[in-house]
Amino acid sequence: MSLLVVGSVAFDALESPYGKVERTIGGAATYFAVSASFFTHVNLVAIVGDDFSKADARIFHGRAINIDGLERAAGKSFFWAGKYSQNLNERVTLLTELNVFADFKPKLPDHYRKSKYVFLANIAPELQRDVLQQVKGAPKLVAMDTMNYWISGSNAELRETLKHVDILMINDTETRELSSEHNLLRAAKHIFKMGPSALVIKRGEYGAMLVDKHGVFCVPAFPLEEPHDPTGAGDCFAGGFMGYLANAGSQSDAALRRAMVYGSVLGSFAVEEFGLDRLRRLKKAEIHARARHFLKLTQFAL
Ligand code: AMP
Repeated sequence: MSLLVVGSVAFDALESPYGKVERTIGGAATYFAVSASFFTHVNLVAIVGDDFSKADARIFHGRAINIDGLERAAGKSFFWAGKYSQNLNERVTLLTELNVFADFKPKLPDHYRKSKYVFLANIAPELQRDVLQQVKGAPKLVAMDTMNYWISGSNAELRETLKHVDILMINDTETRELSSEHNLLRAAKHIFKMGPSALVIKRGEYGAMLVDKHGVFCVPAFPLEEPHDPTGAGDCFAGGFMGYLANAGSQSDAALRRAMVYGSVLGSFAVEEFGLDRLRRLKKAEIHARARHFLKLTQFAL
């Protein structure tokens, strides 16, 4: 089943206690597409500037990622700079330059319109809605991400988009900010009134939590001795989660739980190295081996 994603394709400047890169390919849709393509076919919608070279586009080549919907425009690509704290748990955004995204009017190629699974990765909520409206027929599942930049800067637009979404996937800080509730279960109830029927809360090194009509399911983060760069971990989590579901064609409680594990697996690989470095050489067999490791991590007897 093909999976449509709209979001940023960007250049990032990254700094963590483990090093610094001045400019590397990033963007929420890039991380998502690469991760999800291990499970299913991905249709990517985004825009890049004329600074995005053929060599840069190689990140999408040789994978199940269709880039007919990756528009090229005169100007600079989205640029984002972020810096992590000593323990990697906090991050400050140093710079967000929308550049070509500021005037982006997405137009879905015809063969994208039948996508049954849709992920609205982190980007302006009006763009997310615009893309969703171009999908023909009712998609089986629509999920989305967002961040503080849009929660505080485009709140009304964001709430409009949320009305059309089944699963919201955000981190704990964003959950609290969006709902004005500190307790995450109370926050989930609040968010369900905005549209989504399920909430996936990403909690960094503490794992992730799914709250829906079945109750609550928690998955740990894979314990790593030397995480290097958490950038894109959330997008990779979403890619593993949605990619697994699109491939499974099921949204049963069991499938959602397995999707949470595959999300955590992809997120854990993302943080092992800077930017997309680890994902570039990741193999399917490594993904499945780590998923099996999660069984050992969480199994116990009573
Ligand atoms: P994450 O670490 O999962 O929050 O994702 C990081 C990626 O999101 C980076 O590669 C950035 O290029 C991209 N990003 C950062 N800020 C924004 C924003 N306001 N809108 C869209 N994408 C963003």
